[in-house]
Amino acid sequence: MTDQTRFILNESDLPRAWYNLNADMPVPPAPVLNPQTMEPVTPDFLNVLFPMELIMQEVSGDRYIDIPEEVREIYKMYRPSPLLRARRLEKVLDTPAHIYFKYEGVSPSGSHKPNTAIPQAFYNKADGTKALTTETGAGQWGSALAFACKFFDLDLEVYMVKVSYHQKPYRRILMETYGAHVFASPTDRTQFGRSILAGDADSPGSLGIAIAEAVEAAATSGGTKKYGIGSVLNHVLLHQTIVGEEAIKQMDLAGEYPDVVVGCVGGGSNFAGIAYPFLRQNLLDGQQTRLLAIEPTASPSLTRGVYTFDYGDSAKMAPIVKMYTLGHDFVPPPIHAGGLRYHGMAPSLCALYDAGYIEAKAVHQLATFEAAITFSQAEGILPAPESAHAIRGAIDEALDAKEKGEERVILFNLSGHGHFDLGAYEAYLGRELEDYAYPEADIQQAMEKLPEVPAFA
Ligand SMILES: *Cc1c(COP(=O)(O)O)cnc(C)c1O
Repeated sequence: MTDQTRFILNESDLPRAWYNLNADMPVPPAPVLNPQTMEPVTPDFLNVLFPMELIMQEVSGDRYIDIPEEVREIYKMYRPSPLLRARRLEKVLDTPAHIYFKYEGVSPSGSHKPNTAIPQAFYNKADGTKALTTETGAGQWGSALAFACKFFDLDLEVYMVKVSYHQKPYRRILMETYGAHVFASPTDRTQFGRSILAGDADSPGSLGIAIAEAVEAAATSGGTKKYGIGSVLNHVLLHQTIVGEEAIKQMDLAGEYPDVVVGCVGGGSNFAGIAYPFLRQNLLDGQQTRLLAIEPTASPSLTRGVYTFDYGDSAKMAPIVKMYTLGHDFVPPPIHAGGLRYHGMAPSLCALYDAGYIEAKAVHQLATFEAAITFSQAEGILPAPESAHAIRGAIDEALDAKEKGEERVILFNLSGHGHFDLGAYEAYLGRELEDYAYPEADIQQAMEKLPEVPAFA
């Protein structure tokens, strides 16, 4: 055992393929339905929004999918990302556990999201797409895609939720610096946006409205514009597996193997990215690593949601998928500062959770920020509030190991830094935040609005 802190791979160790869990998926996938016809979606339906190469990745059964050389070249601007042992945090917690984290905050936009933004821009460019459209809430996804579009000479239209556009200008400025066009949604650029503004000229917007606008702008562009998505779909999770593939090599450098892998979950992409390669090792190699997803009690899709078919968005334009859902009209409580606000979750992750291959836990907001402060004071890195959920989960594992006297090896994904989230930290330090558990009655009520899907589904 060394006393090394950072475990660094060379550029030449950058993985050459993503891992496609479809090949080893122990539970069969549920059909994905067209929201208008309720029939399984066709490639033609999806091709309006995505280039065919990404649609093929969505359904591919190949275990490994080669990373194009052009994508690897841009990955090399920040990858392989470091794996660190949190020795100082271990000391503060006085735990016999060994805590490791994979740090994705080293990417130019500060999170794991460029791992998929770069290949999405690449495959679109190769397919002749001229511009991408997307939505963004606080701006993490928009800034990742703006960065990626720059390198493949694609225009980018970002529909940014209007309240964030005005209250959180810094990520908008970052997107504009990369050359993207950012609009406060609802806009008058789309029919859906105009219909919202006609009803309420001062609408603050919502992620659901912004998704609908971005999708409409691509779908009505006559094929010149396509749509980029930041999480949930299989191809996004696929691209994120580069995180876990690197982590396996780095844990090997450290001479250890994780007993538990922890990640936060919004749509599920950073968790799947680190966890699925370890799941492969469980399924094919006899390893027994626990895979633990952490979500907020304010948006508890996995731990409190219902496993059923629901719309992917509140405008009912996205495909209907089987997932743990809080209902497609879910609006996160305003008191919740920690992100991770999606009403559903990646379907593959939901199927695995339902079948017992992964574990999930919800954590409260105040305990999450407390963990973020403990971590930043011990390790120096200010985590994104989303990532702080994973830290809470990892710290709880380390404290449990201490109680049981176990030298447990814990690996978590630090999905991004929090330099653009200082407003949330200010609210926490100013004692303006409260714990919040999403009300059961609201979940029950939302279940009355689920789509009626045919029996084959
Ligand atoms: C977007 C984001 C998340 C949540 O999305 P997932 O798809 O669940 O990974 C988590 N952490 C950071 C830093 C993010 O930007």
